[in-house]
Amino acid sequence: MFYQRNSGWETTSTERKADIFEFCESYKNYLDTAKTERECVAEGIRLATARGFFPADSKDTFKPGDKVWFNNRDKNLVLAVIGQQDITDGTNLVVSHLDSPRLDLKQHPLYEDTGLALMKTHYYGGVKKYQWASRPLALHGVIVLKNGHKVTLTIGEKADDPVFTIPDLLPHLDQHVQRERKASEVLKGEEMNILVGSIPTPIEDKTIKDQVKHTVLKKLNEDYGIIEDDFISAELQLVPAEKARDVGLDRGLVGAYGHDDRICAYTSMQAMLDMDTIPERTAICFLVDKEEIGSTGGTGLQSRYLDYFMEEIVGKCRNGDFCSRATRQCLWHSRALSSDVNAGINPLFKSVHDEQNAARLGHGLVLTKYTGSRGKVATNDADAEFVAELRALFDEADIKWQTGMLGKVDEGGGGTVAMFLAHYGIRTIDAGAALLSMHAPMEIASKFDIHEIYRAYQAFYD
Ligand code: MN
Ligand code: MN
Repeated sequence: MFYQRNSGWETTSTERKADIFEFCESYKNYLDTAKTERECVAEGIRLATARGFFPADSKDTFKPGDKVWFNNRDKNLVLAVIGQQDITDGTNLVVSHLDSPRLDLKQHPLYEDTGLALMKTHYYGGVKKYQWASRPLALHGVIVLKNGHKVTLTIGEKADDPVFTIPDLLPHLDQHVQRERKASEVLKGEEMNILVGSIPTPIEDKTIKDQVKHTVLKKLNEDYGIIEDDFISAELQLVPAEKARDVGLDRGLVGAYGHDDRICAYTSMQAMLDMDTIPERTAICFLVDKEEIGSTGGTGLQSRYLDYFMEEIVGKCRNGDFCSRATRQCLWHSRALSSDVNAGINPLFKSVHDEQNAARLGHGLVLTKYTGSRGKVATNDADAEFVAELRALFDEADIKWQTGMLGKVDEGGGGTVAMFLAHYGIRTIDAGAALLSMHAPMEIASKFDIHEIYRAYQAFYD
C-alpha cells in the first residue's frame, strides 16, 4: 500500500558493486577526454566505429541490424540501430546534450594591462560566476583560418601544461569593492578575464607598447601558426582543468566537470554500443548541442536537424522511398527519454526541495514528469499513460528508479529538450540522474546512478 524509498546501494551485491565501479572508471576517462561538444562527437564516432557503426550517408538503404551514425557539424551525433518493426511504427529515442556551462573567449579577447596579458570571456549557460575565479582552467577548441584550415587546440590538460585562471580579489581589500555585492555579481561578467602571460618581449616597432601581449601572440604564432585576427573565427572554450575524481571515503560518488549532461550522453551512447541483439523498434541515441542556452542554433534541438536525419532513416528503411507522411507517422509513434540531469536533495540547502517529491543520489534513474516550477509553464508534461508504460518497463527490467522535481513549486526551475521533442508528437519524459552542485565546475553524481541509468537506457532501447 505504501510507497517505499531506499538507496540502490542497500540491495547491491559485492560483485555488482565491482561492476559499477569498473564502469565508472570508463566514464571518468570519457569525462577527462571529452570536455567540449566537439570532443564528445569525435570521441563518440571513434567508439562507435570501433563497434561496427558506419556513416549513414555511405548506404542508400538500411536493413534491420544496421548500425549507423550521423554527424551534424561536429556538434551533434546520432547513433541508430535499425530495428525489426516497420519504421512507421515509431522509434525509441534517448536524447541528451553534449554542451556544458563554460567560458568562451570573446572575438577580440587579448589585451595587456599593468604588465600582464589577459583574455576576455563570455560565459556560456547558467553559471554562478564566482565559482570560476581562482581555479585552474584549460583552453579547448578550434581556430579556423581564412583559408579554411582548422587548428584544434587543447592547453591545460596534461600535467606539465600551463593553465589559465581568473585572478580574484584578496579578502584584505574586498570590503568596499566586492563584499557587499549580490552573489550573482561577486564576480561580474566583465571581470571574468583570464591571465595568459606576464613576460615582456621587446618590439621593433616602438609605437606598439604591449610587450607582454607580444609574447603571447609570438608563442601562439610559433605553436599554432595563428595571428590575432584569427580569434575572430574561433570557438575557444575555458573548462575546469581538473580530472574526474572519486568523492568520499567509500568512493561512492564521482566529482567532475560536465556530468550535466555527459552522464546521460555517455551512458545512453554506451548502452547503444553494447546492444548485441536487433531491437524490435529502431533505437536512436541523439546527442545534441546548445541545450544550456535554450537549444538554439543549427545544432540545438530547436533546429530542423531531427526532421533531417529522421527522414533519412525512414526513407532508407523504406528502400529509398522518401515520403514525408511516413516520417511524420514515424515521429508521432515514437517515444523518447529526454535524458538530462535533475537536482538531488542537497543536505545543506534542503529548503528549496519538496522532500517528498525530490530525487536523491543513489536512488537510481530519475523520471521527471515535468520540469517547470511556476505553474508548469514551458514544460513537457508527460502523459500519465506514458509514465505508466515506463513504470512497467523499468520494474520488469529490475531497474531502480525514482521520480524527481526541479525544486519546490515557485522556487525557481529550469528546462530541458523534452518540449522540443514532444512538439513532433513524440511521447516524451525527462529521465536521467540526480546531481549535487549542478552547473558548478565540479558536479557530483552517484556511481550507483551512473550505472543504473546505463541499464535503464539499455532496457528502453530494447
Ligand atoms: Mn542538462
Ligand atoms: Mn544544465
